[in-house]
Amino acid sequence: MNIDIISVFPEYFDVLNLSLLGKAQERGLVQVRAHNLRDWTHDVHQSVDDTPVGGGAGMVMKPEVWAECLDEILDTDGAPVLIFPNPSAPTFTQQDATELAHAEHLAFGCGRYEGYDARIPVYYRAQGIDVREYSIGDYVLNGGEVAVSVMLEAITRLIPGFMGNADSIVEESYTGTNALLEHRQYTKPAHWRGLDVPEVLTSGDHGKVDRFRRDEALAKTSELRPDMIERLDCTLLDKQDRKT
Ligand code: SAM
Repeated sequence: MNIDIISVFPEYFDVLNLSLLGKAQERGLVQVRAHNLRDWTHDVHQSVDDTPVGGGAGMVMKPEVWAECLDEILDTDGAPVLIFPNPSAPTFTQQDATELAHAEHLAFGCGRYEGYDARIPVYYRAQGIDVREYSIGDYVLNGGEVAVSVMLEAITRLIPGFMGNADSIVEESYTGTNALLEHRQYTKPAHWRGLDVPEVLTSGDHGKVDRFRRDEALAKTSELRPDMIERLDCTLLDKQDRKT
């Protein structure tokens, strides 16, 4: 997967060379390039923003600079998906991450100031590009860099071959058709500071362990995310699930 990130602070993305994403780059599974939007400016101040048309506080990112940059970056083989983080867009979900993990080329545009000129996504959609705008939550950040890092981590860990153990992404929170929150996790020792792990987990009975974890996941999801329970497809639940 080729990943281009456009930002006025491309150094933000140096951290992507660490950990599993760094290893995936070394193995050639993903290629990440962070670009400085200012490289596409022509004035001495390298300005990427201007005052809002109609007045108001703050500055808005100029469409001309973005377009020069995007025309160059999107001009590649393999259908690119262009993603702009935006606090007023639909929320990015695990389902979006799962879908985007199969893309060949992702390009992310990090907004700053009051955001980017609204005509930028409109223009590229009209050119036939798959343009997405996503929020990562109901709060406002200073810029899109952190939001892009969040989305990138969620997407890349789902690329086939990315995780050392592929099973570790199969049964996770928000994952699969009838998604639940994951059951609680414990490690050794079984007794620690007066707290014991649930006895069934040390029983060695895999059937009982699976049932216990499934019941935990259902109970935890009902308590913390009743909206997810309402969305469950009841025809896919077994009799035991329904009792929980
Ligand atoms: N004026 C905008 C508003 O009120 O909706 C906020 C702009 S914010 C200061 C600057 C940039 O940060 C946005 O263009 C976007 O790229 C990014 N950003 C801020 N909060 C975000 C969020 N919750 N999710 C995704 N991106 C966000």
